[in-house]
Amino acid sequence: MEIKGENLVISYGDYTAVENIDIDIKKGEITTIIGPNGSGKSTVLKALTRLLKYRKGSVYLNDKNLLDFENKEFARQVGVLPQKHSAPPDFKVKDLVGYGRMPYQKWYSKNNSDDEKIIDWALKATGTWDLREKSINECSGGESQRVWIATVLTQQPEILFLDEPTTYLDISHQLETMRLVKKLNKESGIGIVMVLHDLTQALEISDRIVVICHGKKYSEGTPSEVITAQMMKEVYNVDCDIINVPGRNKPLIAYKEII
Ligand code: ADP
Ligand code: MG
Repeated sequence: MEIKGENLVISYGDYTAVENIDIDIKKGEITTIIGPNGSGKSTVLKALTRLLKYRKGSVYLNDKNLLDFENKEFARQVGVLPQKHSAPPDFKVKDLVGYGRMPYQKWYSKNNSDDEKIIDWALKATGTWDLREKSINECSGGESQRVWIATVLTQQPEILFLDEPTTYLDISHQLETMRLVKKLNKESGIGIVMVLHDLTQALEISDRIVVICHGKKYSEGTPSEVITAQMMKEVYNVDCDIINVPGRNKPLIAYKEII
């Protein structure tokens, strides 16, 4: 499973949000997109997942042009959790999670026993099994985020796109979500592409990082290639030291002059 975006130009009306971006997502890896607010991260993610048309360039999923996919065929391979999402508040958790099976069903069919097995697996894998009879509005922020991840998991995607999956979560739920993402990647081999703001988390979890700034790709590579004091200055206008600490396998970002 590989997704390749070539020379993408993406506009909203007359405004060009993304210019000439090449992006290559490899099978089974965790790729994180970072960059300042409004730099074009969600725009790129939407173009790679057919939620937004691009003006120029092309995207290939396993050498097949994105434009040549049927919706259901695409949804069986690619799961997307957008930055903003909502469900009717009285929706039961297990019903919402069951909706992820739609790409596998005819319009008139109900969930069969195979579907039920996968729904149960997704509920268990995300730690939402005990929530299944609750309605979605009875879930906390962290719980509902896991429920949404369960919903895209029932699509059984080979690659999962998550746009800021930890925003609005407290630190313990952020780390819990990151551990879940890592587990899905390691144990089920699901490729992950996500947008993160927390650079320490991006450093820890990613195989590759892509930096987007002002609608252009600034750099890409392994976490230690990408997270440098120079990048932090040029992209975020923040002074910091990147410090190697004995006993930790990833460096730490030490911000200077915080206040
Ligand atoms: P990021 O996800 O990096 O914060 P976005 O991809 O959401 O940034 O946005 C990139 C740019 O495109 C921003 O300048 C934003 O204002 C603009 N933009 C995003 N969505 C729309 C939209 N629906 N209509 C017009 N402009 C948009
Ligand atoms: Mg965004």
